[in-house]
Amino acid sequence: THNKVGFVGLGNMGEKMCKNLLKKDFKVMVNDLNPRKIELLNKAGAVVAEKNSDIAEFADFIITMLPASHHVTSFYAGENGIMKFIKPGTLAIDCSTVDHVAPKNLSNLFEKIGASIIDAPVSGGVAAALNGTLTFMVGGKEEDVDKAKPILSAMGKNIIHCGELGSGQIAKMCNNLLLGITMYGAAETFHFGKKLGIDLKVLTSVINTSSGRCWVTDTYNPVPNVMENVPSSKSYEAGFTSQMLLKDLEIAERTAKKLNHTLDIGNKTLEIYKKICDADLREKDFSIIYEYLTKKNYY
Ligand code: NAD
Repeated sequence: THNKVGFVGLGNMGEKMCKNLLKKDFKVMVNDLNPRKIELLNKAGAVVAEKNSDIAEFADFIITMLPASHHVTSFYAGENGIMKFIKPGTLAIDCSTVDHVAPKNLSNLFEKIGASIIDAPVSGGVAAALNGTLTFMVGGKEEDVDKAKPILSAMGKNIIHCGELGSGQIAKMCNNLLLGITMYGAAETFHFGKKLGIDLKVLTSVINTSSGRCWVTDTYNPVPNVMENVPSSKSYEAGFTSQMLLKDLEIAERTAKKLNHTLDIGNKTLEIYKKICDADLREKDFSIIYEYLTKKNYY
């Protein structure tokens, strides 16, 4: 059976996803730029790659959970990329959020060696990564998606085949555009409520049983101490960094530009996240927008 998995990118998400694979008894080889993360996964039972090419030689499946397009592209096809070491029949599963043309650009290289790639970005945040309840939005050939299902099921509960290669990324881009917009909307609303003197726990319980409710208000509330175990109640420790959301909004903006399409609210959201990152809050969770709005003069 094909159960050897290479896993590269053990960050906020990857570390937790990889641990779930180990719990389900997959044989996993890992790599990351951060030795501390490698150590953590080694303790959890993963084999450590000495170099990236070890992963290509070991794995039947290669999962990447890297920050952005250029990391994924250079991991496979860069100067020291692993493409030339990949075995025929290998299936690459890119779970990073990248623009939707990136997987298409790589797929020719995979086809040439009798291997393949699918895009499988995720949603649900670090809590879902930890609990193995992520949503995977998958783009690629049916047979490849079927092959990936046992692995994806070990890390998530919803696996949605969105269509051809790249369509998982289209779904993810649309989701995160709306996520950014709803986060901005919720932060603006709570800031306004605070000014008017209403208790924000009370306002939250009203919204969450009313028509303003959304994932941001009921699962990832940006107001400190309204909910437990969310970044806003832990000094905005990420979570999902402002820098990552900005990257996703930039993907949406670039994609829209190519189509001569305008994203009005999307652009407004992009602009404020640029400011947040410029105010040196890029490593903070993206829910820091609430604090940014309430303490604007301070930043
Ligand atoms: P992160 O920055 O915490 O993790 C990225 C990891 O990749 C780091 O450990 C880094 O050391 C490693 N890395 C970078 N370049 C590398 C290379 N060349 N070789 C090996 N390792 C390398 O990011 P994250 O929050 O885990 O997000 C990863 C991806 O998932 C991003 O595309 C992000 O947009 C997406 N995502 C994140 C969340 C979230 O809530 N954090 C949710 C859904 C999707």
